[in-house]
Amino acid sequence: MTAVFKNFIGGEWVDGTGVTRNINPSNTNDVVGEYAKADKAQTEKAIAAAKAAFPAWSRSTPQERYDALNRISAEILSRKEELGRLLAREEGKTLPEGIGEVARAGQIFAFFAGEALRLSGEKGPSVRPNLEVEISREGVGVVGLITPWNFPIAIPAWKIAPALCYGNTVVFKPAELVPGSGHALAEIVARSGIPAGVFNLAVGSGSVVGQTLIEHPDVAAISFTGSVATGRKIAQACVASSNMKKFQLEMGGKNPLVVLDDADLKVAVECAVNGAYFSTGQRCTASSRLIVTEGIHDRFVDALTERMKGLLVDDALKSGVHVGPVVDQSQLDQDLRYLKIGKDEGATLHWGGELLNRETPGFYLQPALFTNTTNSMRIAREEIFGPVACVIRAKNYEEALGIANDTDFGLASSVCTTSLKYASHFKRNSESGMVMVNLPTAGVDYHVPFGGRKGSSYGAREQGSYAREFYTTVKTAYTNPG
Ligand code: NAP
Ligand code: MG
Repeated sequence: MTAVFKNFIGGEWVDGTGVTRNINPSNTNDVVGEYAKADKAQTEKAIAAAKAAFPAWSRSTPQERYDALNRISAEILSRKEELGRLLAREEGKTLPEGIGEVARAGQIFAFFAGEALRLSGEKGPSVRPNLEVEISREGVGVVGLITPWNFPIAIPAWKIAPALCYGNTVVFKPAELVPGSGHALAEIVARSGIPAGVFNLAVGSGSVVGQTLIEHPDVAAISFTGSVATGRKIAQACVASSNMKKFQLEMGGKNPLVVLDDADLKVAVECAVNGAYFSTGQRCTASSRLIVTEGIHDRFVDALTERMKGLLVDDALKSGVHVGPVVDQSQLDQDLRYLKIGKDEGATLHWGGELLNRETPGFYLQPALFTNTTNSMRIAREEIFGPVACVIRAKNYEEALGIANDTDFGLASSVCTTSLKYASHFKRNSESGMVMVNLPTAGVDYHVPFGGRKGSSYGAREQGSYAREFYTTVKTAYTNPG
């Protein structure tokens, strides 16, 4: 028996025009659920409902928004084990990773509950006699939120929470591959006390639901996280739309972890294992380029390989598992394609990369490490989005920094060193949005901005108080008191 989960449009749970099946990547015989697929007409209904709800919601009190966001936070946190299990089951990250992601979603809603109370403006003298000038922020309107499959509750949370906090109304489109966590979140949002139409869920494909959102003149803004290719299409559609939609894009990465001769070897290996392989390497902030200086190179590769041999790859829900399966067949095919590309380019597949058989049929891939790679190889330039990392040898710090910055992306970077001089220099000169010292490239706080440079991000930052740049529009009001 599989349940069919409905869409939420204008305050009603509605059937779709078809269903999408959510499969457990740890066991492809396990159907997590069937989810109603919205079509173009239903997406348009969701947009109309959000439009109708905007005038009242944008003028609601900070207290109303605080209460709703706080209720959402409390329910997510109180159900984090159950929701974390759902997440791990549908996406394939391990149970502790799934629970951690759910907890983070709850914390994000609590943060934005507080932000609803903190929104303020400015009032100042005019340069002209007697006039008053006020600067305030208002909600933007209907926002379309389009999310990827790899963080199926945290990314929706860090878009939905600020959207509601600042008085916007929402049409949320989760990734069709992994709609379960987004649906569970939608149920929680739906019972938070917000009026009908303020929040709408439309599960369905990017080419139908997503495309309708990015083209529709009543959608004021699009917040997108996903691949560069889709991001580019969204940017073009937003600029071409009659209302010149505001947009924000968070996309891929090819994040460098620099390991210097003076690094603590244990710290460096833990940073590499965590950054490259945890969450099956399916993180935009994954460390896919390990740039290692000559004096530590061989010791680092040996120690990392030993550590990789101890990683348990298995069903995401089993206890003690370090790495769950790849999310689906098509991502697995992509990972295998890049393993072949790397070998064909002359890199050494030093360890891993084998398909693994486990008790249940799933997409199990042994984490893979390439050595003898150069930064010009495709495996060092293109995002693979799987448990695959390459080691690039560098002569010294200066060369390592140059290689780290030589990429089309700029999301996260890290340096492992015990030298204050190199740590400080790297923080200043690394061309990425988030820089770490003696930490994995992945793993960030929820109360500070998240985002990158170059091909990784476009537009205002997400998360923390910086989120209001995207979810509000600034108004300057002049008064002549007479
Ligand atoms: P994707 O294929 O670009 O899809 C992302 C979302 O866009 C999905 O909901 C997708 O819908 C939708 N979409 C596809 N075509 C569309 C269109 N024409 N119009 C509107 N929406 C459309 O990315 P993904 O494979 O799900 O996710 C992996 C990517 O996300 C990686 O590149 C990763 O680096 C990136 N990512 C970035 C961050 C960050 O913050 N920088 C965080 C996590 C992931 P359907 O798939 O449902 O059809
Ligand atoms: Mg699935």
